[in-house]
Amino acid sequence: MNNDKMEKIVSLCKRRGFVFQGSEIYGGLAGVFDYGPNGVELLNNIKKAWWKANVYDKENYFGLDSGMFKHPRVWEASGHTSGFSDPLAECRECNTRIRVDKELEKVGVTADEKMTEEEINRLFDEQRDKIVCPKCGKKNFSPARAFNLLVKSNLGDFTSEGAEPVYLPGEACQGIYLNYKNILDSMSPKLPFGIVQIGKAFRNEISPRNFLFRTREMEQADTQLFVKPNENKDAYEAVKQERFNWYLSIGIKEENLKWKQHENLVFYASDAWDIMYNFPALGFDELEGVHDRTNYDLTQHMEYSGIDLRYTDPETGEKYIPWILETSVGLGRLFLAVISDAYHEEEMDGSTRVVLKLHKDLAPYKVAVSPLLKNKPELVAKAREVFTVLKKEFGNVAWDDNGNIGKRYRRQDEIGTPSCIVIDFDTLGEEQPELKDTVTVRDRDTGKQERVTIANLVGYLK
Ligand code: ATP
Repeated sequence: MNNDKMEKIVSLCKRRGFVFQGSEIYGGLAGVFDYGPNGVELLNNIKKAWWKANVYDKENYFGLDSGMFKHPRVWEASGHTSGFSDPLAECRECNTRIRVDKELEKVGVTADEKMTEEEINRLFDEQRDKIVCPKCGKKNFSPARAFNLLVKSNLGDFTSEGAEPVYLPGEACQGIYLNYKNILDSMSPKLPFGIVQIGKAFRNEISPRNFLFRTREMEQADTQLFVKPNENKDAYEAVKQERFNWYLSIGIKEENLKWKQHENLVFYASDAWDIMYNFPALGFDELEGVHDRTNYDLTQHMEYSGIDLRYTDPETGEKYIPWILETSVGLGRLFLAVISDAYHEEEMDGSTRVVLKLHKDLAPYKVAVSPLLKNKPELVAKAREVFTVLKKEFGNVAWDDNGNIGKRYRRQDEIGTPSCIVIDFDTLGEEQPELKDTVTVRDRDTGKQERVTIANLVGYLK
């Protein structure tokens, strides 16, 4: 059922202009997706809701948009050039590559990318008879080796001789650490304060799969809260709670969310939890990471750059490196979670309808406007009038005059449009003058229709 749901979601996303395979006309490029007209609206609305919660609703959080390319030393300081890898093994029969930690997890063995090659190979060898190649079904794999996920570019290298490569970002948050001092100097924040950013990241994922869940190009929405050393525990609990509640506030069902604590912490981390979502085809898997990173990131950048990144305490004059509490969610995974949570199939008017019960703030269109018949100029003119008023008020309003009204409702249900407005002959007041200048408003979730005067329409929809 869950697998089936994933297929239905992928198909809906293509059919209704949400998400397309990247470079589709050339056969596609693995791990890259393009957001279509409805998808980009939903994605932007998700970003707006996230930005509002993490910048506008706070007083001490600052937004940032840093450049994607960074000095090569950044990725050395962060540990990515040496340690940002996944364990890869190759099928000796058909050359398919597998990510060994994920295959081990599937057979119930806890493993992760932080383990050494020896540790992971010991576990892999113990479980070899249970792990089969997803392509040919054989069990003949090479040993696991660490495969670095950073994507290289040749930016600024005109020699082709392999000068130090400039990498694409392996994670978006490094831009925050690099600008921490700029923000201290320009905005004079006092601890605790946060810096937030939505940015692109690229990973040479060994096996991109499960639609938007694991892609090679992605966007991450990150917050980094800088706190006094050792004043992390309460703040960490508060950040965790806030992030969990945010998902509820955008309409995600609580039963589809849960926490998972990391068992195998990286050496510098003090604590790490993931918010898990019950993804179609996958079950519960990581949606967002909430990490207590101590002073590792700024310490590393201070050492590698030689620039003093300490904070001067305004009360005591003491200098120290703040600790960081990080939250990071991939927007593709979030998009998939939002659509999956909103996806419903239900009986209505004698047939099954597919409806996206999206939170109203996230829906691509706030409302759709239709003239009952598209070949009656007086209906079209009146509908255009209403459309113009609503567009001014709500921005993204759909004009839908294609097919009969029933088909239009079903189409808007699949896009998740909360209300559909129909301008009919009663609106013109031809037979019942008391209905003049009223329209039908149909609710997406209940299918109920109400008659509302045009003058009250904006207030009613709000
Ligand atoms: P995973 O264990 O699933 O590979 P991760 O622990 O490496 O993920 P982080 O480095 O903590 O992930 O990245 C923060 C967030 O970015 C993740 O919680 C996830 O939402 C998102 N993310 C990471 N890798 C991908 C990917 N390949 N495709 C889509 N989103 C991703």
